[in-house]
Amino acid sequence: MEEKFIYLDYAATTPMRPEVVEVMTPYFTKEFGNPSSLYTLGRNARGAIEDARDRVAAFIGADSREIVFTSGGTEADNFAIKGVAYANEKKGKHIIATPIEHHAVLEPCHFLNKRGFELTYLPVDEHGIVDPADVEKAITDTTVLVSVMHANNEVGTIEPLEEISKVTRAKGVYLHTDAVQTFGHIPVNVNDLGVDLLSVSAHKLYGPKGVGVLYIRRGTRMVSFMQGGSQENNRRAGTHNVAGIVGFAKAVEIAEREMAAEATRLAELRDHLIRGIFEKIPNSRLNGHPSKRLPNNVSMCLVGAEGEAILLSLDMEGISASSGSACTSGTLDPSHVLLAMGIPAEIAHSSLRLTLGKETTKEDIDYVLDILPPTIERLRAMSPLDASWGKSKC
Ligand code: PLP
Repeated sequence: MEEKFIYLDYAATTPMRPEVVEVMTPYFTKEFGNPSSLYTLGRNARGAIEDARDRVAAFIGADSREIVFTSGGTEADNFAIKGVAYANEKKGKHIIATPIEHHAVLEPCHFLNKRGFELTYLPVDEHGIVDPADVEKAITDTTVLVSVMHANNEVGTIEPLEEISKVTRAKGVYLHTDAVQTFGHIPVNVNDLGVDLLSVSAHKLYGPKGVGVLYIRRGTRMVSFMQGGSQENNRRAGTHNVAGIVGFAKAVEIAEREMAAEATRLAELRDHLIRGIFEKIPNSRLNGHPSKRLPNNVSMCLVGAEGEAILLSLDMEGISASSGSACTSGTLDPSHVLLAMGIPAEIAHSSLRLTLGKETTKEDIDYVLDILPPTIERLRAMSPLDASWGKSKC
């Protein structure tokens, strides 16, 4: 019998589509030119990059000159935050972020905070939502940047950026968003959202790892991220990852075609899974917003069972899942996202994130719904954590 393998960690990364691999392949071998070289081989590579830039720009309603290729979402976030902070020091040294950001945003904020920048965290409600009124209250004369993610990678909550950007615009403060989890999955348009900077990553939408984009609205004062050659209009030095960029553009082209139907399909599977967990596992609670959430995200606290133990048990049954974000798995700290949403540490320790994608079927979800309840029952019986914890909240 074939071994079961059900991948439910698409928020961590996705497999590359065969079409993506196919368009990338020549750029590793035959079309190996340096895009900065002036002869034909170099010009071919340059042309491929510019076509990719046009495609990404059109997908988010931007101008191609506003697109900077990076080594991924982490670099795009670092570039946005440090780039704006250092370029606008004369205006002020105050930045604002949410406590539920990915570490790729939190860490550059801490870095700046240690070096003389003031940092304010916005409150979030129990669903992880930021109130635009709190953004308005937090902005001072010295604020240069507000960073609020488009959707949270752990709990899937989608933030009200359209309203938040009305505030930042009225106050003349730059707004950055980390759209790594939304780009290619739900509509992302920089003008509808009203953002000045937006980070994306190719490997979350069936593209290659190690390539991303920072959108920088025209006129935004930034310092360049890397110094060296004059690539990317002097904003990000370094020879381009040509194959990665070409693959990224292919993934965008596929997302453009398939995104709407796939979001509807996944939202149905997501809701089937959430309903099933509620029905079959007592004392379970949904993390994040019940409706303003990513179509593929199921994040639950299965109170009384320990997150890492759930993961390992599911892995033995052929199911790949996550407890909190992949980057913090392996540590025993409860998720900073759940804690910021006011979930007690004892409950946060029982979190399980299942994120659905291209290969996920109804049969997969039904398999999880067969395996998970007895797994949780067994772990609860063994666990020192009290399953009655937070009963009133579930
Ligand atoms: N931001 C968010 C919300 C993410 O989920 C991730 C990846 O997990 C990143 C940033 C980092 O992106 P990358 O893996 O491309 O560096």
